[in-house]
Amino acid sequence: MKSLDQIARELQGYDPQALSAQGVLDFLERLVTPLAETETVSLFDAPTRVLAQDLISPLSVPPHDNAAMDGYAFEGAALRADSALTLEAVGTALAGQAWRGTVGPGQCVKIMTGAIMPAGLDTVVPQEFVTLAQAQPHPRVTIPAGLLQPGDNRRHKGEDLMQGEPALRAGERLTPAACGLIASLGLPQVQVMRRLKVAYFSTGDEILSLGEAPREGAVYDSNRHTVRALLMRLGCEVIDLGVVRDDPALLRRAFSEAAARADAVITSGGVSVGEADFTKAMMKELGDVAFWKIAMRPGRPMAVGRIPSGERAAILFGLPGNPVAVMVTFLAFVRPALLRMMGARPEPQVLLSAHSDEAIRKKPGRTEYQRGIVTRHSDGTLRVRTTGSQGSGVLRSMVEGNGLIVLAHDQGNVTPGDEVSVMMFDGAI
Ligand code: AMP
Ligand code: MG
Repeated sequence: MKSLDQIARELQGYDPQALSAQGVLDFLERLVTPLAETETVSLFDAPTRVLAQDLISPLSVPPHDNAAMDGYAFEGAALRADSALTLEAVGTALAGQAWRGTVGPGQCVKIMTGAIMPAGLDTVVPQEFVTLAQAQPHPRVTIPAGLLQPGDNRRHKGEDLMQGEPALRAGERLTPAACGLIASLGLPQVQVMRRLKVAYFSTGDEILSLGEAPREGAVYDSNRHTVRALLMRLGCEVIDLGVVRDDPALLRRAFSEAAARADAVITSGGVSVGEADFTKAMMKELGDVAFWKIAMRPGRPMAVGRIPSGERAAILFGLPGNPVAVMVTFLAFVRPALLRMMGARPEPQVLLSAHSDEAIRKKPGRTEYQRGIVTRHSDGTLRVRTTGSQGSGVLRSMVEGNGLIVLAHDQGNVTPGDEVSVMMFDGAI
């Protein structure tokens, strides 16, 4: 385990007083390591977990060539470009059971979607394309010319997954699609990383918990609820330690309990410069902690480090107090770090490009995250406008926006029509 000083020495140009957003990510990547413990869970408990094993497909999905449409299965080689094809329908293949008959030249089989393709047949004509004439001993089906190619409307054995091939890799987050894929392999259980335990509390004498009576100068604790919900989205086990007053004994107890019970501790408030409270002092006393001024807006101050507890240590993320700053620093830095701890493979960050509808003032030398509303215009282009006031206390902006306009470190003012990058919220918030 490297000390914070060691990590700092590894990073070129590390300056805790003016750290770039990229510098924060580079630091955190060295600070946090993936969990080691895994467990086996039922697929019913697998959503949001992280897969701990490569899953090799024990069977092929689908297990047989089958029909993609309700219609008539026949041998595609009989199709002619310039003439219709008439065939005798000698039987019916239903989904869920194999049709055992044999099909000769000039014959076809009525088939249902998902039914196994009878031996020797490779093409399905959808039933709405044919004309059907009653005849003895079998009805006649006529397929118009030029409609089909051999092989149409047939699903191949293993086209989803082939037996023996990797279906999912360790580190995969078990999204709804991944859970369905695992079920399609017939696997009732999977080996996953154990859940990451994250404790959080809010600090500040002016912060009220829900249920407390409003009083002058006090605000309700929104951070605890955004942090909790963000963690739940990630699939973490959450440990709520409430609001902690600005009192050394209470803070000591909260940090110690958090470090003892959790893999990571998230606090909000009390890390700004000139903050007249005990939060920073207690972090310093109990842990190996760096205090940063990040070249970003919102979210300049942040504390990061380790708080030891017995043999192990919990990772500390001391976020600023302002509600938007909490969410932005969480999305930009804490989320990728927690995913790494959870054993998840890094997600490539996909930023959209959209034309700004408005001028945006921006100083080079810091990364700015403005709340934006992306829409598609009638001409098909993506446009983005800001949500208005970008104050770091305006939490409404996070609700109204559908993404963050990311104005890069070196970027200057934006003029209307310029392309800007947007980090869409999607499922993250
Ligand atoms: P601080 O970082 O402690 O200086 O707080 C900055 C601003 O965020 C102040 O206006 C605080 O009142 C506000 N704030 C701090 N913690 C919370 C919280 N848990 N919920 C809502 N607002 C908060
Ligand atoms: Mg404060």
